[in-house]
Amino acid sequence: MSHSKDITIVGAGLVGALLATLLAQRGFAVTVYERRPDPRVAGYAGGRSINLALAERGLHGLRLAGMTDTIMELAVMMRGRMVHHRDGRTELLRYGRDDSEVIWSVSRGRLNIALIDEAEKAGARFVFDRRLTGAKFGDGAALHFEDEAGETHDIRVPFAIGADGAGSALRAAMNAESPLGERIEPLGHGYKELEIPSLTNMPESSLVPDEASALSRGEVFAIEPHALHIWPRGNYMCIALPNAEGSFTVTLFLPSEGDPSFATIASSAAARALFERSGLRVKRVTLVHRDGRPYLFVSADFDDLSRLPGTPAFPDLQISLRPDGDERLRLQGRWSRPPGGAVVPGDQRDGLMAVRFHLPSKVYSHQNAHDGVQRGNIVGWRQDVAAALDGQALEFEAVMSRRSILFSTVTLFAAAIVGGLGILAAALYLVFRRGRRAATGRSAGPAG
Ligand SMILES: Cc1cc2nc3c(=O)[nH]c(=O)nc-3n(C[C@H](O)[C@H](O)[C@H](O)COP(=O)(O)OP(=O)(O)OC[C@H]3O[C@@H](n4cnc5c(N)ncnc54)[C@H](O)[C@@H]3O)c2cc1C
Repeated sequence: MSHSKDITIVGAGLVGALLATLLAQRGFAVTVYERRPDPRVAGYAGGRSINLALAERGLHGLRLAGMTDTIMELAVMMRGRMVHHRDGRTELLRYGRDDSEVIWSVSRGRLNIALIDEAEKAGARFVFDRRLTGAKFGDGAALHFEDEAGETHDIRVPFAIGADGAGSALRAAMNAESPLGERIEPLGHGYKELEIPSLTNMPESSLVPDEASALSRGEVFAIEPHALHIWPRGNYMCIALPNAEGSFTVTLFLPSEGDPSFATIASSAAARALFERSGLRVKRVTLVHRDGRPYLFVSADFDDLSRLPGTPAFPDLQISLRPDGDERLRLQGRWSRPPGGAVVPGDQRDGLMAVRFHLPSKVYSHQNAHDGVQRGNIVGWRQDVAAALDGQALEFEAVMSRRSILFSTVTLFAAAIVGGLGILAAALYLVFRRGRRAATGRSAGPAG
């Protein structure tokens, strides 16, 4: 084995750049060859950059390189997994006992660039736009590279380390010379990167009331920032990791085949439909006339209120259901005409638009509900279509109990049944006791 202090690394990803830093800090002459252009000049080549969930193992490596402070400035703490259930409930599953046992969300691109900067500072040299296409091993390694223009570059080095990722070309070249026993199993899933922008970067018209008031308080995250969000949906799922500036990097993991999969979701319309599976069940559609005005009634059930806005049925509805103290929930919403809608002639401006909820639990208060609260759990709001067309939003708000009416009714019945059985048992006990006393009195008489 050569004892040269010259080390060549193939790949300037997380491993290559950190290793280059650590080796350069220990006096090795390190050169790194990377197939992509310099991310500090060309931007991080991603589209699939995916945030990293940084745990103790990763932090340990950064500590060795003396980089913890630089990286922690970019990191957002994540206390646990925030699971988003199908019914809209969220549940935080903590990673540890308290905030001393957490993991950190960090942008992969920014982490990679910081590592490359640090390696250069320690003396490592980077050569970008060099893709390893072949290697021969003997006395050191003969490495064959190609650049973007197709030009070839051959070098001979005493010592080479492959840090060129999961599909390593260096490992493939080694395997071709002397089988390594590698086994490759396709995962069957792929992924796409999406984004939830920070509140400051969302169009004002798309903010639900809670988001608008959070923004007015100076908050920038659209959902809880200190969690790794997961939407588990059986054989596919979404995750979202926070970024320091207020956005979330979202990753959709989907099977390559089947339904839904990358094979079936081949168009943007199909992708939209996947996200618009609102779970709405339309029960009845009726057109009636009252006071000479036409009314179109659409009656529907739905499982997950948070999935209604933006669906084909309610493209311009904003709605939220949030906890209001321990016992109550606050329903808030806004139904407004989307900006840039068609011009509507005068005779079609006559009419009412209305939204009416049969809520599953008791309603305590409301704002501007047209007929107040009916039968304890029905509330409705309405306004003239003309006002809506002129840009006035229909805003609604109600506060209701967390406990559903069905639950309360079942509890009441159960309590009544238990109470009834208790009284019956007490009555039977008294009757038996009296009967036994009478029998004892009769048998004691002759003996005395
Ligand atoms: C979707 C997803 C999410 C993940 N999330 C996490 C997470 O949250 N936390 C975590 O710790 N890990 C996570 N991982 C794993 C983590 O990304 C890897 O462990 C890590 O990137 C490995 O680093 P690496 O430097 O070996 O490879 P990479 O980061 O893939 O870097 C390889 C580098 O080599 C370059 N290269 C490739 N081929 C050549 C070639 N022929 N010639 C020259 N250069 C080449 C590439 O351009 C790249 O820059 C995730 C992985 C995936 C796929």
